[in-house]
Amino acid sequence: MHPFSYTRVSDTRQALNAARAGGRYIAGGTTLVDLMRETVERPDTLVDISALPLDEITVTERGGLRIGALVTMSEAAAHPKVRTLYPVVSQALELSASAQLRNMATIGGNIMQRTRCTYFRDVTADCNKRQPGSGCAAREGVNRTHAILGTSDACVATHPSDVAVAFAALEATVRLLGPDGKRGVPFADFLLRPGRTPDREQALRKGELITSVEIPALPQPLKSGYLKVRDRQSYEFALTSAAVALHMRGGVIREAKVAAGGVGTVPWKLPEVERALIGRRPSDALWTAAAEKAAEGARPLTHNRFKVALLRRTVERQLRIVGGTK
Ligand SMILES: Cc1cc2nc3c(=O)[nH]c(=O)nc-3n(C[C@H](O)[C@H](O)[C@H](O)COP(=O)(O)OP(=O)(O)OC[C@H]3O[C@@H](n4cnc5c(N)ncnc54)[C@H](O)[C@@H]3O)c2cc1C
Ligand code: SF4
Repeated sequence: MHPFSYTRVSDTRQALNAARAGGRYIAGGTTLVDLMRETVERPDTLVDISALPLDEITVTERGGLRIGALVTMSEAAAHPKVRTLYPVVSQALELSASAQLRNMATIGGNIMQRTRCTYFRDVTADCNKRQPGSGCAAREGVNRTHAILGTSDACVATHPSDVAVAFAALEATVRLLGPDGKRGVPFADFLLRPGRTPDREQALRKGELITSVEIPALPQPLKSGYLKVRDRQSYEFALTSAAVALHMRGGVIREAKVAAGGVGTVPWKLPEVERALIGRRPSDALWTAAAEKAAEGARPLTHNRFKVALLRRTVERQLRIVGGTK
């Protein structure tokens, strides 16, 4: 492990100052420490932000939910407001990692986690994300778990977070605090597609701190849920997943929020699927027709062609689970 110094901060001003001096934030440490052990990450200074007052879940002025960046995954999953207003968020969290990890890991750290591409974590392999310009070993290597959407010649890695898929579906906003003050970034713009610069993964500016993730108020009643398909039933990342939220009135779908995970270089919002649902009455035929659009634009690799059909089926099944049939 690369030698590093450690400092613990107790207010956001201290945190920003420490980051300005080159420090790297650490919250639950469940993924950053692994990457440091593997020497994929080599920060000189760790800035422990776990004592900052960013650990609350509150209802916003407009009736949405603000989840503090330091709320743990298990606290967020169990919170009564999250469970009742956005079950899709609770379910995505409960299907993530293990109970022990969820007790340590934070919401801010979760959306910042880095890809599980094995070549990225193997410092002897070529990887443009870890070492820009070195190549991409996954393109011609074993790429069964990699992305089919949003890829570039430079990188085909998926974003591994489950709850980020729910946040993308619900069109959440990431709240940030930096040297220049506060700002909000729509979730769709927060995680970046690889393009030619796969080493740039988020829209964070230098030293910026995530303070919360805000889910907007959505028309109620809102039915929602998360389906995760993986090689084994627990403690595994998604091959495909679907986050679905539907608002129905008078037997008609008035609002639809849908995103997929395990298939994109970022959580993959599905606007064509949403458009196919809005204004229609639930039926098996509708779920099938809408889900057909889920894999539009997919560019599978040698070993992950199966994800195209699996994605459509995952979305179709989750639409049926959430929307039911008449
Ligand atoms: C074995 C294993 C299985 C897992 N399975 C899943 C899974 O199925 N689904 C899933 O979604 N996740 C999974 N994870 C990932 C897990 O959810 C993350 O490790 C965790 O959420 C990271 O949170 P943390 O607080 O520990 O982050 P840390 O490790 O402390 O930090 C991670 C990164 O976030 C940055 N950071 C943290 N907080 C902030 C902040 N407030 N502002 C700016 N930057 C910040 C850090 O600088 C660092 O770069 C798994 C992890 C492991 C180890
Ligand atoms: S897919 Fe991305 S992360 Fe994986 S080896 Fe290629 S460049 Fe690196």
